[in-house]
This record gives sequence, structure tokens and C-alpha cells, in this order.
Amino acid sequence: MPPTRKLLIATHNRGKLKELSFLLGGVPFELVSLSDVGIELDADETGDTLEENATLKAETYARLSGLPTLADDSGLEVEALGGAPGVHSARYAGEGATDEDRIALLLKNLADYPQPWTARFRCVAAIVRPGQAAELYSGECRGEIITVPRGDNGFGYDPVFLITREGKTMAELTSDEKNRLSHRGAAAGKARNALMGRTG
Ligand code: IMP
Repeated sequence: MPPTRKLLIATHNRGKLKELSFLLGGVPFELVSLSDVGIELDADETGDTLEENATLKAETYARLSGLPTLADDSGLEVEALGGAPGVHSARYAGEGATDEDRIALLLKNLADYPQPWTARFRCVAAIVRPGQAAELYSGECRGEIITVPRGDNGFGYDPVFLITREGKTMAELTSDEKNRLSHRGAAAGKARNALMGRTG
């Protein structure tokens, strides 16, 4: 048996690390975090698309660690707003703003458009092995934006994102349900399939 290879999960966010570790369960790699390999640097997220940002992050951390690396980037795309906030979801209301500020700005910007405000969350996971081109896997979750936040689970835009066919917002899902239905679950599932059976 060859020794187990390591796969670096490129995030400083503990919640995301836990979620991705669960979603990638069973892959023939030992999953390690940025803190496990002593990397404190925050990679630039200067791309114009989720694909570019996921690739930039995976390439940066693969170069620094010498390990195969998985990085992801995700965002909320609202149809009436031409796909905004998209790649800018985290900083939509500027530096230092809260989730509540971002939701308030989103609802303000949507106020003049007719409902339903269809939207999707999209996630792109990039896997980079040192010196090789990125492999990209994407997932989406379709729904609509609602005006009155519902639910206490989750983060970000979850309380105003209604998964129409479930009749629940993302913030009303258990973590099992979110893993099954979310954009991150879909992208990580594809990355997991690609990693299964691979040893390097
Ligand atoms: P990240 O690339 O996964 O860190 O996501 C960037 C931003 O998109 C987050 O800061 C959130 O504002 C938003 N976002 C991404 N995924 C989700 C989600 O599952 N629920 C709510 N907001 C999300």
C-alpha cells in the first residue's frame, strides 16, 4: 500500500473546514488544514469570477505547501441584479459590514424589481496539484430571495434565500439537509468523485 497522500483544504474558516472535511469523507487522502501546515497568509481574491478566485487560492496554497490543494469560492447570484452580488458577495456592503447589513442592501437594491426574485448560490471548487493546471468543479442551488428573514442556522444570506421546492430558507435547514442541497455540497461531491480512487 502506498503511503496516504495529503490534501490541503485551503480555508482559514473553521466552519468551512469542518463542512468540507465531512463532504470529502472517504477520499484516499489525509485532509490537512492551513493551520496544520503553518500557513497564515490570506491568498488574494482579486479575480472577477468564482472560477478565477478558487483557482488563485488553490494555486497560491499549493505553491506554498507543496501539497495538492482544494480551495473553493462561492457567492449569491440574483437574476434581477444581473448576477450580483456574485463574486463580491462577502464584501457587498463594504469592509466591516455585517450579514444583516448585506441582507439589508440586497433587499434595498431589489425593492424596485417585481417578485419572485429568482437567485442561485454557486460554488466552485478548484483542485491544484503543484505545477499542474487547476481542475474545477461547480455546484449550484436554485431558489429565490424573500423579504422577511427566516431561520437561525447557517450564515450570510441564508435567512433570505428560500429553496422554493423545499419551502424552507437555507437558514431553516439542518446541516445534513444543507449538505445534501447546497451549492457547496454539489461542488464538493463532484470533487470527491474525482478524488476517489486517486492516490496522487
Ligand atoms: P465563500 O467564498 O464561501 O467564503 O463565500 C463568499 C460569500 O458568499 C460569503 O461571505 C457569503 O456572504 C456568501 N455565501 C456563500 N455561500 C453561502 C451560503 O451557503 N450561505 C449564505 N451565504 C453564502
